[in-house]
Amino acid sequence: MQCPALSESSAPRDKVLRTTDGVAAPPASQLRSRDVTRTRAILSATKGAVDGSWAASEGVRRSMQANRRCDTGPECALRSELHARGRRFRKDYRIDLDNLRVQVDVAFPRIRVAVFVDGCFWHRCPIHASDPKQNAEFWERKLRKNVERDRLVDTELAAAGWTVVRCWEHEAAEEAAGRVEVAVDRAVAREWLSCV
Ligand SMILES: [Zn+2]
Repeated sequence: MQCPALSESSAPRDKVLRTTDGVAAPPASQLRSRDVTRTRAILSATKGAVDGSWAASEGVRRSMQANRRCDTGPECALRSELHARGRRFRKDYRIDLDNLRVQVDVAFPRIRVAVFVDGCFWHRCPIHASDPKQNAEFWERKLRKNVERDRLVDTELAAAGWTVVRCWEHEAAEEAAGRVEVAVDRAVAREWLSCV
């Protein structure tokens, strides 16, 4: 599926999963396609990491560069759905808050609505979150920090006047788009009321 190319510019993501040695992947059956791709890349990199650099070979580096989140299914599906509904937005939009840099999956900057599509494994979806048995301590810390950062982002964005909509990777695009539209329409109404 092609993502609507609506963004004037989309800065490359600076989201690198740094890992210590010996990382074990959760079973592939527990992961969605995006997670599987990422986890494979982590493992490939970890195997060859001898000099402390994360991407241990040019092949891994290329693979990670190609594995940008905007290429993943759930985000594309949501963007396509919103586009089909006539909504215009920016993708991979960077917001610089006072002490936090946030990369938003789908953004409506003028009315300040920020939409995230969270992976079920990485963000611990209440339905699909799993606790890997191997290297349990590493994963527990890693995933807990992800969730803590999500909540911090929510708080900081709200403080800066943004409405935050979080969609899950498992959520149907139509359902997610419906929630986004409600938030967008409310934000438009709020803006309109503030002008009269
Ligand atoms: Zn889920």
